[in-house]
Amino acid sequence: MSTDSVVLVTGGNRGIGRAIAERFVRDGHRVAVTARSGEGPEGTLTVQADVTDGASLDAAIARIEAELGPVTTVVANAGITRDTLLMRMSDDDFDAVIDTNLGGAFRTVKRAIKSMIKARRGRIILISSVSGLFGVAGQANYSASKAGLVGFARAVTRELGGRGITANVVAPGFIESDMTAELDEATQASYKKQIPAGRYGSAEEVAGVVAWLASDDAAYISGAVIPVDGGLGMGH
Ligand code: NDP
Repeated sequence: MSTDSVVLVTGGNRGIGRAIAERFVRDGHRVAVTARSGEGPEGTLTVQADVTDGASLDAAIARIEAELGPVTTVVANAGITRDTLLMRMSDDDFDAVIDTNLGGAFRTVKRAIKSMIKARRGRIILISSVSGLFGVAGQANYSASKAGLVGFARAVTRELGGRGITANVVAPGFIESDMTAELDEATQASYKKQIPAGRYGSAEEVAGVVAWLASDDAAYISGAVIPVDGGLGMGH
């Protein structure tokens, strides 16, 4: 990816999204992050947007394009969990997770591709999860939303692959973040036992793979699912 790229990262105010935004800034790109609260890292343009609200995304992307230029790389990262066993999962728990994780990626990508189609160049990177491929008890809503991103990326690849646009999925395993810090110690220890690498990953390790997918070196990779999980989901 040349350094005249304009990168948009949703949910770039904290966690993995923030590390991704920091990495693109460090690599010399113009970077915008959307946030519902707080600010993106130094060197980024922060715009308020809720990915469940198409109008707020329209306004955010219009502002990014006016201030930084047409978006050339979009990273759909914003996501939530509402874990509970299926028997206890409310319709609202299911809908909110699908609407944020899958609907949010749809709305973000749909708006961001307009300029990519014109430029005949673009990178779409969707942050999924090992949970979407492996299936995790207590995450029927989350696993479904993250698996949905795979079908979405592959359909987009077939629609836009001929226009110099790639769409790929990154599937992190357990990454040190606010999301994993919420797990109690016993759960964390039992998860670590199942990870061949024997440790959680870092947000920076996810960011490195995202940066590579956005680079010219990955121009012929599309519709792929790249795990960043220390071997946890092997074979899925
Ligand atoms: P965090 O909970 O630390 O951050 C989530 C981010 O998403 C925040 O920036 C949050 O914004 C944003 N967000 C949530 N809902 C919305 C919304 N409706 N509109 C706009 N932004 C929203 O999560 P992580 O950094 O851990 O996770 C980032 C992504 O990586 C998620 O998609 C997650 O599913 C995925 N992932 C995480 C793993 C992990 O181990 N941590 C493992 C596998 C995948 P705000 O601060 O305003 O709430």
